Amino acid sequence: MTVRRQVALSRDEALALDGSDPLAGFRERFLPAEAGLIYLDGNSLGRPPRATRDRLLRLVEREWGERLIRSWDEGWFELPRRIGDLIASACLGAAPGQTIVADSTTVCLYKLISAALDARPGRDEIVTDRHNFPTDRYVVEGLARSRGLGVRWLEEEPEPAAIGELVGERTALVTLSHVSFRSAAIADMAAINERVHAAGALVLWDLCHSAGSIPVALDASGTDLAVGCTYKFLNGGPGAPAFMYAREEHQTALAQPIWGWIGRRDPFEMEQGYVPADGVSALLSGTPGVLGLVAVEEGVKLVAEAGIDAIHEKGRALTALAIELHDAWLAELGFALVTPRDPERRGAHVSVGHARARELSRALIDAGVIPDFRPPDVIRLGLSPLTTSFADVWDGLDALRGIAAAV
Ligand SMILES: *Cc1c(COP(=O)(O)O)cnc(C)c1O
Repeated sequence: MTVRRQVALSRDEALALDGSDPLAGFRERFLPAEAGLIYLDGNSLGRPPRATRDRLLRLVEREWGERLIRSWDEGWFELPRRIGDLIASACLGAAPGQTIVADSTTVCLYKLISAALDARPGRDEIVTDRHNFPTDRYVVEGLARSRGLGVRWLEEEPEPAAIGELVGERTALVTLSHVSFRSAAIADMAAINERVHAAGALVLWDLCHSAGSIPVALDASGTDLAVGCTYKFLNGGPGAPAFMYAREEHQTALAQPIWGWIGRRDPFEMEQGYVPADGVSALLSGTPGVLGLVAVEEGVKLVAEAGIDAIHEKGRALTALAIELHDAWLAELGFALVTPRDPERRGAHVSVGHARARELSRALIDAGVIPDFRPPDVIRLGLSPLTTSFADVWDGLDALRGIAAAV
């Protein structure tokens, strides 16, 4: 039983936490939001770095405007791999040559799940969890239907023992989210990988809510495949391209299903027939989206500069403050904490349940505080360590308590 303070931290104490926050200076590296706005949704859409605006202007004027098509040979073609390696070293715990940036998370899921199923012929089941993000579930269901496979659903949040019970000789692939988009609970990646591998299956992790918020150890944990988006904690911009990770030892055997010219060996030879490119480049399909890619690079550079361990530490402190204020202010107003209390077991958002969550979150937005509503009854407070201050958390929860007390 943890002992909880009965009296919440004061606003001055929250300001003092900002005063001693080693990452506080990063807030100025982002474009300002509307005056007075409290943004607690950086885990749905991260804020724009100032460097991104400058880089995009330079790209349009110089690389695109003046150099035109020559720019493809002056660095554009290298962007998917270069930025993949940058994400890998900044926050995925992955050696170079295994990560590449392209497409949306949804399309990346389709490509890698499909490749994994082909790599396990004769096995006819996919394991995933009922609480996984909708797009992840739909891609699994679509591929299962088109291939005549079964889906085995984990009904609770993924624990190694429960996964161990679901997998077997029929399992081709287990696909899960590392940090739950709903509760922020972190799954035990290494222990789950071990259970899945013991059954002879492959594992694919969705890192959308991990990348840029907590350290990930893809190589050390034995992960086979991973995907993640770059517009949440990596601040890559709306609809920014996603990343795919394929462990080096699997790369030659993996065949992704969308055979396009950019994923072919020597694309400009324009040969008959498809031969995959070497290494992780074989995961590409069509022409890279350069505007989106350079924006991702600027976002990831800030994460690399701040350091993922420092980001993680601030994330734990921000979420701890939100939980403390929940306990002191919200618990008696009909709220229930959805996020794990153990700081080692949660990512960088805090979710609170309330029977009238939809209505409360609308009123909160009207009051200039932006959270996320997740049906049916969850308000999600995204705390982005590079852009969210302790005072933001205090003010946001103070507004929520005022609104909830009045309904
Ligand atoms: C945000 C998110 C996605 C988004 O997928 P898109 O293809 O970018 O729309 C997918 N999976 C998870 C777990 C997410 O949190």
